[in-house]
Amino acid sequence: MDNKDKLTGLYLFDDFIDRASVFLAKADPNKFYVLISTDFSKFKYINRVYGYGAGDRLIKDLADVFASQTQCIMACRPYSDHVIGLYQFEKDEWKSQKEVLKKLQEDFCKQHKAEYSKTSVHLNTGVCVIDDFDEQITSIIDKANIARRSVKGNYSIPFAMYTKKLQELKEAESRLIPIFEKALENDEILVYMQPKISVTKGKICGAEALTRLIDDDGNIVPPDIFIPVLENSGKVLDLDWYVMKHVFRKIQEWVAEGRDVVTVSINLSKIHFYHDSLVEDIIEEFEKYNISPDYVEFEVTESVFFEESELIIDKIEKLRAYGFKISVDDFGAGYSSLNLIGILPVDIIKLDKGFIKNSLNNRKGMDIIKGLIRILNEIEMDIVCEGIETKDEERVVYEFGCDSMQGFLYDKPIPIGDFESKYILRKAI
Ligand code: C2E
Ligand code: MG
Ligand code: MG
Repeated sequence: MDNKDKLTGLYLFDDFIDRASVFLAKADPNKFYVLISTDFSKFKYINRVYGYGAGDRLIKDLADVFASQTQCIMACRPYSDHVIGLYQFEKDEWKSQKEVLKKLQEDFCKQHKAEYSKTSVHLNTGVCVIDDFDEQITSIIDKANIARRSVKGNYSIPFAMYTKKLQELKEAESRLIPIFEKALENDEILVYMQPKISVTKGKICGAEALTRLIDDDGNIVPPDIFIPVLENSGKVLDLDWYVMKHVFRKIQEWVAEGRDVVTVSINLSKIHFYHDSLVEDIIEEFEKYNISPDYVEFEVTESVFFEESELIIDKIEKLRAYGFKISVDDFGAGYSSLNLIGILPVDIIKLDKGFIKNSLNNRKGMDIIKGLIRILNEIEMDIVCEGIETKDEERVVYEFGCDSMQGFLYDKPIPIGDFESKYILRKAI
């Protein structure tokens, strides 16, 4: 029993590295090998609530389950609640094994649910397929860990496979996070605004705040690149707070200068809703500016409503009760359900630009958009069509019953200074 972890009986990390390297050097190319890395969500919390003895039992159970699979060649516990294992399958066996792995985890969590009822037992698991037997085992473990971390705390995905895309995200992370942190510290995050236009009135009826970063070479980094990175690391919270304060301050200035103020929407990332004090924090900040909440809208994507919806809906209701407007962003981009529209406590639905574009080029799609706009009008929900680029697109959705548009046909997101001089005019005296 030397060289074994006392708690789990698994190999110690160094020993695992040596043995796995020797094993892979002689691996059978006709078989299929994967490395699986797993740990618990909120393990510190489990230790704190139930004590270290209970935490240890949970780790031991996890190790037993993972190591006792017939395909497990060897496993180890590198530290704390983290278990990794090397597995060998028949070539065509892996597909069905994905289901097995999913079920194994579900069963494990279910079995422990009653004992650890104050917190949910949940595993974060990453898998790296080993296709190059010459690759260092430590690099394979790193990849499985990148995959594991990518699903940390995500209760809707049973496990993640390592992919090149994840690696790119990781690389983007190490490049972009320092740029973001520096910009945040130096107050250099750019906040752009894009107008929303009322076709009937022929003028602006709102605006959306959208951010950009400048990289070290002076180039603009678009949000499609940096938002996923910031979401992954949790730093999007800092970004959204920055934008929020910036927008509140701008509105305060506009009001003080006697300008024609419009409602400005701020994108709120999903992860804000995991913070219990979100609503109180927003209101506390907002009250420093002495402006009307009518001028502020929060955009949340529809996926926000899929998980833990009661907690989230409660927060949204409170924000609305205070007077802020709430819109569902990118509606139709994911797995929207009509059912959702009926239960959402929101004011505005923003139809996704991709959804509109794909729908408008065929008869069935046109009918769907038309029907959707009709239903939304019937239940008195406001609608904004995103990504309107041509007069034709405008005409079609306008005829279907949508008056508010956002898109390059009117303007791109532009720096706030330009936006002000173009759209936020001083009232005539
Ligand atoms: P979004 O909230 O759906 O914002 C609308 C996006 O559509 C913007 O892209 C805008 O430039 C683009 N767009 C508007 N009109 C058109 C058009 O006619 N054609 C096309 N092809 N695109 C159009 P942007 O600024 O690149 O932002 C992308 C996404 O990044 C946003 O999508 C939003 O989800 C996210 N984002 C941007 N800023 C923030 C932020 O401060 N916080 C958070 N959490 N997310 C942000
Ligand atoms: Mg938006
Ligand atoms: Mg959108």
